[in-house]
Amino acid sequence: MNGTYLRATANGYDAILKCLACGNTYLHQERIEAFERNADASIGLHITIEGGRAIVDNGLAGNPSSRRSGFKVYFSCESCAAGPVLSFSQHKGNTEITFD
Ligand SMILES: [Zn+2]
Repeated sequence: MNGTYLRATANGYDAILKCLACGNTYLHQERIEAFERNADASIGLHITIEGGRAIVDNGLAGNPSSRRSGFKVYFSCESCAAGPVLSFSQHKGNTEITFD
């Protein structure tokens, strides 16, 4: 992630995500997925929150971390058809952030 995906706010401490396709800042959170597991475990806890309900299972398909835990926020854009996804993934002692 670099600064081109963020618009700084007036206070200088926060930022607003921008659509990757059109640059609009009106992104709506549509779905959240959280993945939790011990390192290298083949199953774990997966929670999807969308449309006023939560679905819980043990599948790890789509986990942004190849070995540990992570979560994703799926957005829709008010101005275009893009559906950017913000991901946090644990990699050893680091937390990696991607927005694509
Ligand atoms: Zn857009």
